[in-house]
Amino acid sequence: MTSLRAGAATDTGQVRASNQDAVLMAEPVFAVADGMGGHAAGEIASQVAVESLQEASATSRRELVEVVQQANRAVWERAEAEPDLRGMGTTMCVVALVHGAASDDDRILVANVGDSRVYQLHDGDLDQITDDHSLVEDLVREGRLSPDEARSHPQRNILTRVLGNEPEVEVDSWEIIPNRGDRFLLCSDGLFNEVDDDRIASVLRRLADPDDAARELVALANRGGGRDNISVVVVDVIDDDHHREAGRSAVATATAMGAGAFPPTLSTSLTGTLLPAPSEAAVGATGSGPGSAGAPPPRSGSRLTWRSVLFVCSVLLVLGGAVAAVVWFARSTYYVGFDDEQVAIFRGRPGGLLWIQPDLAERTDLALDEVPPSRRAAIAAGKEESSLIEARRYVDSLQEQADAERRRTTTTTTTSSTTSTTTGTSTTTPTPTSTR
Ligand code: MN
Repeated sequence: MTSLRAGAATDTGQVRASNQDAVLMAEPVFAVADGMGGHAAGEIASQVAVESLQEASATSRRELVEVVQQANRAVWERAEAEPDLRGMGTTMCVVALVHGAASDDDRILVANVGDSRVYQLHDGDLDQITDDHSLVEDLVREGRLSPDEARSHPQRNILTRVLGNEPEVEVDSWEIIPNRGDRFLLCSDGLFNEVDDDRIASVLRRLADPDDAARELVALANRGGGRDNISVVVVDVIDDDHHREAGRSAVATATAMGAGAFPPTLSTSLTGTLLPAPSEAAVGATGSGPGSAGAPPPRSGSRLTWRSVLFVCSVLLVLGGAVAAVVWFARSTYYVGFDDEQVAIFRGRPGGLLWIQPDLAERTDLALDEVPPSRRAAIAAGKEESSLIEARRYVDSLQEQADAERRRTTTTTTTSSTTSTTTGTSTTTPTPTSTR
């Protein structure tokens, strides 16, 4: 029989007035939830989610996903019922042990919605299992943003998925064969935004007692600035009978259940297999060492004839035509995107094409936080329109929707439902020690 031992710590941090995180320690189920919403709403959201999880039980990955979906519905219904709580939401990451018919069939299940994280420490190596459901992480996965740019991106607090904003939610899940000595870490962003992965790994390797490790991680985050609530749960696999040799190849492929699912491991496997090939080819083609057999020897003393001049000219003509076509293609469209905190119209392709970068065509009066949350992701990725007029029309429609939304919520104090917990300090400089 696989058995677990766990420790936890949670703290308000150095800046926030209250702790809107919630932690569930209900062996064999552990969870961290990071609530968001004005006043007490964030606290209630995370609490409702965790209580809903505590009351349910799951014996399979599919059931765990359903349990998290129930928690989503519980938060959503509460928010619908109480106008003061409208727009509240919460992240949730879960680690649960389920026993199989034989102890070989015991599994650790992981589920996640939002940007709290689950890590696994195995043989001293720390791996992040979950993927953040945040705008910047989506852009990083699509290759539109480097991890470095993501760290300082002004919209890094925008979440693309949370519990409680919609009646249905897509839940990512994983199934892992437990190995004795494995350690799972659940945490809210208040930890990994203040303490980088290397330091987290070092604490997890150094402190054997899970309570000590959790407390030390919270202390480090506070020392790093403590700009957010910090929650940490450390779960150790202390017995697994005999199936240790199964190794970590056992980490089942993750699937997101629900519509539009994609395996979170896809992007890493793609970069692993596709990138080396073209660079090797490039080296081979230009290689000029003595070993480059097959390359024709340089022709010495070949004269410039009118034929070769003509040939060179026609090649240049074709190349020039190709370059002109690329330039035309790169510059022929417009897109609506964000220029810092403002909506703007750019000429070109989002992210640029080859060497041709888009440039700012027009600024608008529409600010990021006025844009309806459901449309922010599309704009952040660059909403392409065929002409400047079409782009202006799109901005007009955004403006109308924003106005309508504002009229509908003139009495509510908070406007955005998908902006994460940061209420007043989102413009403070990001920590230099955030993850990777
Ligand atoms: Mn947080």
